[in-house]
Amino acid sequence: MTNRKEKGQLIVLSGPSGVGKSTVVAELMGLRPGLRFSVSYTTRGPRMGEQDGVNYHFVTREEFQRKIRDGELLEYASYVDHDYGTGEREVQEMLDRGQDVLLDIEVNGARQVRARRPDALLIFIVPPSFEELSRRLHRRNTDSEAVIQDRLAKAKAELECVPEYDYLVVNDKVSQAVEELHAILTAAECRVENRRFILSRFQ
Ligand code: ADP
Ligand code: 5GP
Repeated sequence: MTNRKEKGQLIVLSGPSGVGKSTVVAELMGLRPGLRFSVSYTTRGPRMGEQDGVNYHFVTREEFQRKIRDGELLEYASYVDHDYGTGEREVQEMLDRGQDVLLDIEVNGARQVRARRPDALLIFIVPPSFEELSRRLHRRNTDSEAVIQDRLAKAKAELECVPEYDYLVVNDKVSQAVEELHAILTAAECRVENRRFILSRFQ
């Protein structure tokens, strides 16, 4: 008897830069070994500690434009001077293998995914306060003050998109946020449309 799903769940996680998405996703992957992270394409340069092919595929603007032209991206958007996008084939292959796939993408990309894949699950993650978001961006120490200010301004606009999402998680304590994400994904997995393969045992 197999518990393998026929199709994986597509999950979108959005939230302002510095809220802690990478931090909670890293812990969530430990709790859910079947979960796969979609490695996006970006034209921004790697931050300290970031690896090509692990955190992002770092590409030139020309290569990014070619991907758009050739229809290779499921969604794409600009974010503070750089382009970011999700490779459609890679995501589809994982879903077809029955693996859940998590996209860490901003709000315009999330909207495109919602339109193209209505069965995707959209989760938004917020900080406990705007002041705490600013503290985290400064403490991370990966961006210049100008970039941090751009990202904080962007955060205000992004928060207005929360009503378009299915779930809202507050990243106050990492462990609590991870637990809530884990619960959301477990509940999604139990939806009847995701468990039809179990019914075939009783036929
Ligand atoms: P994002 O991926 O959303 O841009 P990061 O995961 O890089 O954010 O987190 C930004 C900074 O905030 C990092 O220095 C991280 O260690 C810290 N951080 C993440 N979650 C929390 C939390 N719940 N409490 C305090 N600091 C946090
Ligand atoms: P960062 O530069 O901090 O890694 O990411 C900046 C923003 O781009 C974050 O909000 C992140 O979620 C978003 N992002 C990362 N990859 C993608 C992607 O493939 N598509 C879209 N639309 N946004 C992305």
